[in-house]
Amino acid sequence: MSRGRNLSPFLSLPYENFYKNIKYLEHSNNLFNTLLIGINIFTKKKTQFLIMIDTHCHLYTNEFENDIDAVIDRASNLGITKFYLPAIDKSFTKSMDILEAKYPDKCFAMAGLHPCSVKENYNEEIEHIKWQLTQRRFCGIGETGLDFYWDKTFIKQQYECLEIQIELALEYNVPLILHTRNALNETIEVIKKFDGSGLRGIFHCFGGSLEQANEIIKTGFFLGIGGVLTYKNAGLAGVLKQIAMEHLVLETDAPYLTPTPFRGKRNESSYLKYIAEKIADIKNISLIEVEQITSKNAEKIFGL
Ligand SMILES: [Zn+2]
Ligand SMILES: [Zn+2]
Repeated sequence: MSRGRNLSPFLSLPYENFYKNIKYLEHSNNLFNTLLIGINIFTKKKTQFLIMIDTHCHLYTNEFENDIDAVIDRASNLGITKFYLPAIDKSFTKSMDILEAKYPDKCFAMAGLHPCSVKENYNEEIEHIKWQLTQRRFCGIGETGLDFYWDKTFIKQQYECLEIQIELALEYNVPLILHTRNALNETIEVIKKFDGSGLRGIFHCFGGSLEQANEIIKTGFFLGIGGVLTYKNAGLAGVLKQIAMEHLVLETDAPYLTPTPFRGKRNESSYLKYIAEKIADIKNISLIEVEQITSKNAEKIFGL
């Protein structure tokens, strides 16, 4: 006979069950989360429950030149504490530097060359990255990878630039951020060659099959989950159901790939919450869990 039987059902609940019920409340109507946001705004500080990291956003592009402070504010008010900025090519270096200098505790720049920017002058671009790396610390290398969707003229050079950037990530011991389009298997094959080297990073904007996800996980890389997850018929939801949270990080890829319900408009980091909510929904866990686990994963990758 348990003494608990004589108590009211509420008092007899062990702490864990009580916590589960709270989480259920939060999951079912967002009341708990709204309350926490209210406390955050009121006390002007973040509780440990509400921290999200945008592991991939291009907040230094022209799309944000008029309202970047408001964009960072909106995201910060939702608990987004860090913004990782992948490079595209050297034409963006200056605006990236300016943004990082303005928000040194929030915005972290990478050095790299996007596969779609691999053109005739790719040697010049690579030299620029190498020079940048001698100047100061960068949080990662990328985004690099293979993109066979837009233009196949420079496929050979895309491979070459990818391998050079892998070597740089290893040399400087920073994560590698991978972009792939119509070339996921090809990119996985390249990464597999570096098995055991200590290479780490993210397959950003993952949209592949369960088999491809498992191949990536085997390499030790993480899956960057963004707005595509919120699109109808994306098929990604079914894949994510079978992938452990320990392999996922959140990203917006702002200003691109805007999640539903803002699809078609400019993307921004505060929309990260729609992606986190969608993951919570798909995996039937609380939003808090999604935020905590993905933030922990991001910290593990970037080590900051
Ligand atoms: Zn990309
Ligand atoms: Zn990107």
